[in-house]
Amino acid sequence: MDEFALINHYFRTAKRNGADQGVIQGIGDDCAVLSVPAGQQLVVSIDTLVEGVHFLPDTAPDLLAWRLLGAAISDLAAMGATPAWVTLALTLPKADDVWLASFSTALHEVLSLYRMTLVGGDTTRGPLTLSAQVHGFVEPDRALLRQGAQVDDLICVTGTLGDSRAGLACLLDNSPVNAVTSYLRERFYKPTPRILTGQLLVGYASACLDISDGLLGDLNHLLEYGSLGAELDSEALPLSSAIRSFVDELQAQEWALSGGEDFELCFTISPEQWHQLQASLQTHNVQVTPIGRIVSQSGIRIKKNGSWVQVQPNGFNHFAGE
Ligand code: ADP
Ligand code: MG
Repeated sequence: MDEFALINHYFRTAKRNGADQGVIQGIGDDCAVLSVPAGQQLVVSIDTLVEGVHFLPDTAPDLLAWRLLGAAISDLAAMGATPAWVTLALTLPKADDVWLASFSTALHEVLSLYRMTLVGGDTTRGPLTLSAQVHGFVEPDRALLRQGAQVDDLICVTGTLGDSRAGLACLLDNSPVNAVTSYLRERFYKPTPRILTGQLLVGYASACLDISDGLLGDLNHLLEYGSLGAELDSEALPLSSAIRSFVDELQAQEWALSGGEDFELCFTISPEQWHQLQASLQTHNVQVTPIGRIVSQSGIRIKKNGSWVQVQPNGFNHFAGE
């Protein structure tokens, strides 16, 4: 199959799913022509996965589609945005029908789950590399930014932390397949972008980002804007029952703090706004856990067995060694 036939066969079939009213011209022309809804701002982000760098060779193509889009859409969640359009750049060693069928099926599955439309892309030959650019909408000047945390704000996270790192450990160690390891592997490959939660936080959170590099490192990005500090309670870290049964509590806390790729949201919010937000979080049955607060003294300190330990944003050894 030549390149054009391949694009047509696997990618042009994108179904209309109600989120694509703004697509004037989709796949097939030199550019997509898109209309942003009146009175909305466009938010854009791109993510790339390179074989051997971001994933192991021979990773199943459906998992790659999930991982690629999950990470990209999570950036939209972190802005409080409504997902809309995707462009896809594929560099493939060869046009492998089995691979493409599996990849594109999963891709369309994720797109319809998040009500997004594939509007274009690029296909080239070379070492396996996947890029997805995502586009979404926010009300003017209402996007959740990394800048804005204030002293005394609560620090909160969505979902549970460390599962993705535990899932990676299952893969690297070839752990036997059971309910626990399957759950953790799935958390690694299939991130769940917190789109709804991000939207609920608009107008409430003072700063927000998604956790891709690990809670400590990412939290540090929120602190950098105001030379602020953070105090966290290690016992408040939300841990899944799967991670608790997979490793001991200290290991689970380490992975929760610095594991990375959880694609949960970390945000700051004033105590008053936190109070105001409760009703809508409960209505939507969204899991959000306060884990600490913003302080004026710079650095990150963690309360562990009643005493405070200073940690480096990226080095967890410090914490483990104390
Ligand atoms: P051009 O040479 O003008 O850049 P291409 O031949 O690369 O156009 O692509 C033809 C059409 O197919 C364009 O609309 C492009 O956006 C789309 N396209 C190419 N590759 C992909 C892909 N992997 N996924 C979705 N659309 C794609
Ligand atoms: Mg062209």
